[in-house]
Amino acid sequence: MSLERGDRPDVIANARLTGADRVDPFGDDPVDIHLAEGLVVDIAPAGGLPRRGAVLDATGVWIVPGLWDHHVHVVQWALAAQREQLGGAAAAAEAAAIMSNAAVMPDGRRIGAGFRDAFWSDAPSLELLDAATGDVPTYLINADVHSVWLNSAALRREGFASDTGMLVEDPAFEISRRLNAVDPAVADPLVARMAQDAAARGVVGLVDLDMAWNEEAWARRLRSGFETLRVEFGIYPDFLDRALAEGLQTGDVARGSSSDLARVGSLKVITDGSLGTRTAACSHAYPGDPSNHGMLTVDPALLIELMTTATGAGLACAIHAIGDVANSHALEAFAVTGAWGTIEHAQLVAHADIPRFGRLGVGASVQPEHAIDDRDLTDSIWAGQTAQPYPLRALADSGANLLFGSDAPVSPLDPWAAMAAAVFRTRDGRAPWQPAQGVTAATALSASTRGGSLAGSTIEPGVVADLALCAHDPLIADEGQLRGMQVTATLLAGRLTHLL
Ligand SMILES: [Zn+2]
Repeated sequence: MSLERGDRPDVIANARLTGADRVDPFGDDPVDIHLAEGLVVDIAPAGGLPRRGAVLDATGVWIVPGLWDHHVHVVQWALAAQREQLGGAAAAAEAAAIMSNAAVMPDGRRIGAGFRDAFWSDAPSLELLDAATGDVPTYLINADVHSVWLNSAALRREGFASDTGMLVEDPAFEISRRLNAVDPAVADPLVARMAQDAAARGVVGLVDLDMAWNEEAWARRLRSGFETLRVEFGIYPDFLDRALAEGLQTGDVARGSSSDLARVGSLKVITDGSLGTRTAACSHAYPGDPSNHGMLTVDPALLIELMTTATGAGLACAIHAIGDVANSHALEAFAVTGAWGTIEHAQLVAHADIPRFGRLGVGASVQPEHAIDDRDLTDSIWAGQTAQPYPLRALADSGANLLFGSDAPVSPLDPWAAMAAAVFRTRDGRAPWQPAQGVTAATALSASTRGGSLAGSTIEPGVVADLALCAHDPLIADEGQLRGMQVTATLLAGRLTHLL
């Protein structure tokens, strides 16, 4: 019989196991993995046990735990498909020109995303953007989402003012929130398509950090048949009172759902800016701007208060910290409050702070592709910093649990790209950047699964059958094989969510 998406195979036949932490006796020999009721119930030499029921032939492929992306902005990522891509613009004038030719959306606006103004050869100005885009409200979103560039028509429409059209940090997030608040009839099919693309990369779950009341959205999607991924959704401080009043705790199933796929995640607090917007809170000033050390967007005392409240209520914490000063404060807050959870990004960390992640049990939720995207920026605008940028290896070696993600749309939702960046520290044929901070493929693989790098990636009887089948052994794949990894099948609790 031939299987298709949605089916539940009883046996995955002739697969090869991989992972550095294996204790099974099978070596390179192919195995049959027997499944029942969403679990792996037995692993045996190929053909060693009768193959009853539906058989998924996995001859020639390797089997790994289903992959997770630990940091995604779901609706923003799904909507990226509709937005003009600005990643190639080398100047403000070029970005403005691209937008002048962009299609006007049915709501009368033009939206572009993915610009990197830190690389622009000229300065953005309102006159420049207005001259190119006229009366059509036009919005350009930075690749790091920490700034937006609006023309006069868009500023008027949103009720904001800015001499250059640029808005950074909270006003920029507010604009993004408004742009992402699209009708579910438009957004949900795009989310479904995005999730299917993720499943085709072996993904079984993600952490959704959309700046919205995410429970309602996920319950609605599940009720209308979404069953492609597991989701843990974040709660922002604006919604903390509501979460407390309604008794939400980390791990709870989203209320009003028709399945247990969506669960309450962490309180997400953004405590500083970003590298690209030059607002990450750092101990040394940004070049050419001696008074600019970036900014803490949440006062350290308030952070402690928020984390104390969340912890008391049973919520984990996910604290955005990019600069070394922000990371120090975030670690301090974990130590003081006894909160559990993650620091998101950890892009610049003081040497003395690196071992604190492991010691405090704070997960390092990092995005390895950002290191490659930002290598030139880091070498220029963080050249004067003394802390360690993108300290993946140092974190792993000091006992931190690494959790990989994409921060999509900041980088594409593709755990294989994250693994390749983490292991090889390069892309596009350039020399590796700070290769000493590269991690082993085994660390990268387990950092891309639900439990993170300390949890390992062993598949054994009794585990939930969240699995991915891939064309190369990720532990010995080269950079190209890892980035281009063909995933032949993905299973979520034993059900096929993707099949080539
Ligand atoms: Zn993010």
